[in-house]
Amino acid sequence: MPVSSFQPPVRTLMGPGPADVHPRILSALARPTIGHLDPAFVAMMDELKQLLRDAFRTRNALTMPISAPGSAGMETCFVNLVEPGDKVVVCINGVFGGRMKENVIRAGGTPVCVEDAWGDAVDPDKLDETLKLHPDAKLVAFVHAETSTGVASDVPTLVDIAHRHDCLTIVDAVTSLGGSPLEVDAWGADAVYAGSQKCLSCTPGLAPLTMNERALEKVRARQEPVRSWFLDLNLVLGYWSGSGKRAYHHTAPVNALYALHESLVMLHEEGIEQAWARHRRNHLALKAGLEALGLELMVKEADRLPQLNAVTIPGGIDDALLRKQLLDLYGLEIGAGLGPLAGRIWRIGLMGYSSRAQNVLLCIGALGTALKALGAGGDTGEALSRAQSVLSEV
Ligand SMILES: *Cc1c(COP(=O)(O)O)cnc(C)c1O
Repeated sequence: MPVSSFQPPVRTLMGPGPADVHPRILSALARPTIGHLDPAFVAMMDELKQLLRDAFRTRNALTMPISAPGSAGMETCFVNLVEPGDKVVVCINGVFGGRMKENVIRAGGTPVCVEDAWGDAVDPDKLDETLKLHPDAKLVAFVHAETSTGVASDVPTLVDIAHRHDCLTIVDAVTSLGGSPLEVDAWGADAVYAGSQKCLSCTPGLAPLTMNERALEKVRARQEPVRSWFLDLNLVLGYWSGSGKRAYHHTAPVNALYALHESLVMLHEEGIEQAWARHRRNHLALKAGLEALGLELMVKEADRLPQLNAVTIPGGIDDALLRKQLLDLYGLEIGAGLGPLAGRIWRIGLMGYSSRAQNVLLCIGALGTALKALGAGGDTGEALSRAQSVLSEV
């Protein structure tokens, strides 16, 4: 069998992640591999942890990347914080809340679910009522930015309610970190995890994580060991902790961490608030163009995520065919709907390096042209000019 090097096609990634990776980050990956206990590497790790604290807006000492994708960040929180028998209230308004429930069960806990429709934010009143019915609950878990629906939930309000009922909080910030306001300390969130490939625009495979002292106390007070060797924070911290000598736990993904470091340097250079503003501006430009094409956003305005736009597919349009055309003709990837939203929405991501003017214009131009060929949509030139005028507002 003849084999050759793999050359990926050139794509523009405007789906639910991974996002486009900046060339600076790709070139960081190609730097020479050094030992994961090399003093130069350890110094880079210390800087990486500080850059992550800045991105999460926290002073938590325990702030570091887990050497595995966002799902492992989720699992790290649950296996460490849930003890067998713990009651955990899980808010579910999309795919990722459902996975949290699964994590609670596998960690030996008892989930109590607060369900909201896919496309709605988590309802704080329902959470409050549920906690009143379950005064023995120990934890509350929810997703900040539901990537399956494009919905933002109100983290500070949900955290306040949880704390009033003496519960710790686990917050999924995989899609929010770097893309929309996230204030771990000001909001009091106790355990928060994210992912490298969404609004940080790094390659997939790393999960930034932060936990405050209260959460760590629960981990330290466990009666039985964490039911995962790899994700046991008591062991991982021996390698990642700031002072003293570092014990070998696993071989850090050295080059992947160069890339995460580079992505955080870029975020630092831009400024996190500027990055949030950029995501918002590009979202508004995309929205203006989509509306001129006669398309509608599914989520109500107050709950919309700028980095993930759920667009209602117009009647009579073949979802899979249209997405295939975008990929074949323009190298443009947009996301399909999941679960009950399959065939009903497209998910257009504007995450990290993908959130830029040229991607907004490419997407509107490509979508407008493809829809027109199917006898749908609106005036593509007008849609581009509406988007362009939002982009040129200061
Ligand atoms: C992408 C995503 C995850 C999972 O991250 P992976 O890197 O795919 O494991 C978890 N939660 C949310 C909200 C996500 O968008």
